[in-house]
Amino acid sequence: MDLHLFSVLSFSILGLLFGSFSNVCVHRIPRGESIVSPGSQCPNCHTAIAWYDNVPVFSWLYLGRKCRHCALPITWRYPFLELSMGVLWGLIAWYIPFDSLYFAQAIVLVSLLWILTLIDLETFLLPNALTFPGIALGLIFAWQAGYVLDAAIGAIAGYAIFWLVAKLFFLATKREGMGQGDFKLLAMLGAFMGWQALPFIIMLSSFTGAIIGSIALFLSKKGLRAEIPYGPYLAVAGVIWFFWSANILAWYQYYLGLQ
Ligand SMILES: [Zn+2]
Repeated sequence: MDLHLFSVLSFSILGLLFGSFSNVCVHRIPRGESIVSPGSQCPNCHTAIAWYDNVPVFSWLYLGRKCRHCALPITWRYPFLELSMGVLWGLIAWYIPFDSLYFAQAIVLVSLLWILTLIDLETFLLPNALTFPGIALGLIFAWQAGYVLDAAIGAIAGYAIFWLVAKLFFLATKREGMGQGDFKLLAMLGAFMGWQALPFIIMLSSFTGAIIGSIALFLSKKGLRAEIPYGPYLAVAGVIWFFWSANILAWYQYYLGLQ
């Protein structure tokens, strides 16, 4: 087998295993629980899960989608997160040489954003326990890659811009729009990609958020009182800029050149 295929397969399997750990993070971090001890347990009866019942995806299938002990159904989020993390890591290994800094950056950023997205969708929270280490990791990678100043400005500006937007929104409407977690997530994206990424991320996330959010509000019975997580839109816009900023800038220059 050639090295490229071998690395893609290896990282897919590692992604599956990391996805299993990510489920623990998605469940425990918003509850303020430790992600290392105790070991994996049923979210319902808290019985410890043996290693042979903890094989990504397969265990969920052969146990009939329920806990071996209390027989309560295990949500589809468990195999879904394992499988999707495996696919994401495999795709990154397919397109980016695994011995590059960019590869490590991609794995860390995409995994963090995927975990944050699922937590935000379930709980409307973007926990500091993830965004703070994310900001630190983004700065360390940027320092290694030689753009730590852009990254530091990105982190500070990301936080400040959303803080200001939220303040103005509150003054105008007397309602809380964005959450504090959104400020920190934009700071994390700025730390990973530098301040240059912020205009695109803010524009795309607010545009898609406004469209999809309006549709969701229209369909939900709660009307304007419904809560809408903003983190997933930031995450998607961030990922698009991380992988395709060169294409976006080239397209933008080409478009301006035609004017
Ligand atoms: Zn159980």
